[in-house]
Amino acid sequence: MKPSPISATVDFDKDGVQHGFLRLPYSRDDSAWGSVMIPITVARNGKGPTALLTGANHGDEYEGPVALMDLAYRIDPAKLSGRVIIVPAMNYPAFRAATRTSPIDRGNMNRSFPGRPDGTVTEKIADYFERILAPMADLVVDIHAGGKTLDFLPFACIHHLPDKALEKRCRAALRAFSAPYSVMLLEIDSVGMFDNSVEAQGRIFLSTELGGGGSSSARSNAIAKRGLSNVLIHAGILKGEVETSLSIMLDMPDGDCFTFSEHDGLFEICADLGAEVKQGDLLAKIWPVDRTGVAPVDYHAKRDGILTARHFPGLIKSGDCMLVIAVREG
Ligand code: CA
Repeated sequence: MKPSPISATVDFDKDGVQHGFLRLPYSRDDSAWGSVMIPITVARNGKGPTALLTGANHGDEYEGPVALMDLAYRIDPAKLSGRVIIVPAMNYPAFRAATRTSPIDRGNMNRSFPGRPDGTVTEKIADYFERILAPMADLVVDIHAGGKTLDFLPFACIHHLPDKALEKRCRAALRAFSAPYSVMLLEIDSVGMFDNSVEAQGRIFLSTELGGGGSSSARSNAIAKRGLSNVLIHAGILKGEVETSLSIMLDMPDGDCFTFSEHDGLFEICADLGAEVKQGDLLAKIWPVDRTGVAPVDYHAKRDGILTARHFPGLIKSGDCMLVIAVREG
C-alpha cells in the first residue's frame, strides 16, 4: 500500500499538549500547491491507553466540533495517563462548507472507509484514519448528530458485534458515556463506515446521535462534553470520577424500526421525539404541496416503541428517512 499523502505537524509520541494540523496536499485553482489543513490536538502524559475523539465526520453535525474544540482548549496533560488525539472535524472541507459531504468531491466520510491513499480528498482522509490513527487508539469516540435533515433523541450507540468480548467492552464505554439514551444501533447502510473500520481492528468504538437540524443546543453540547470526559475517565486516561445518570437502553431489532417516505410533500409530524408509540399510531401526514382539498397520506407506527429519530425539514421527498422507532431493551 502506498504511504498516506497526509503529514501531521504534531508528534504523536511527545508528552504535553500540541495543537497542529493534518496537512493534505490539495492542488486547486485558488492554490496551486495548496493543502487542506485539518486541525488536530494531541495530549499525552507517559504510558497508558490512547483515545481517538472525532467530530464532523459529517460536516453539518455540531456537538462533536463544539465539545472537542472545548476539550482541546482546556485539556491538561498533568491529569492524563496516556494519550488523547482530538480531531474536531474529520471531514474538514465539509465542516467548513456546513454540508454533510465534501464540497470538493461530494465524499461522504462515513461511506468512504477504508479509503485510499491515492483516491479523492475524502478517501485520502479516510485512509489516514484507517491506517494511521485508528491503529494508535484503544478506543474511538465519533460524535454524530442528525445534521440538517434528521433530528434524534440524544443517544450514544454501539453495534451488536460478532466479537462478543469486544461488544462487552464497547457496552461498558456506552454506559460510561451515560447519554440520556443508549442504543444498540442497527445500521441501514453500513458499507464504508468508520465504525466498522475501527471495530474490525478490534478497537472499542462508540458513536452518538445527539440531536440534529444542523445545529446544536446547550443540552446536547453538555451531553457531549460530559460523555467524552466520562469515557476518558472510564478508560483510565483522565483522572476523576465517572458521572453517570439514568440512561434508557434501546435496541433496534429489525428493519421495521425504520419508515421511509414514499411521497413528496409537506411534512406534518404527529408525535415528538421520545413519545412512547403503539403499532398503528398515526405518526406523520404528508400533504400535497400543489393544491388544497386533497387528503394527506398517513404514516403509522410499524411497531411499539419510542420515537427515536425523525425527518427534520418541513418538506419531505420520496425515499427520505422519515421516522425511526427503537424499543426498550429487555
Ligand atoms: Ca452522522
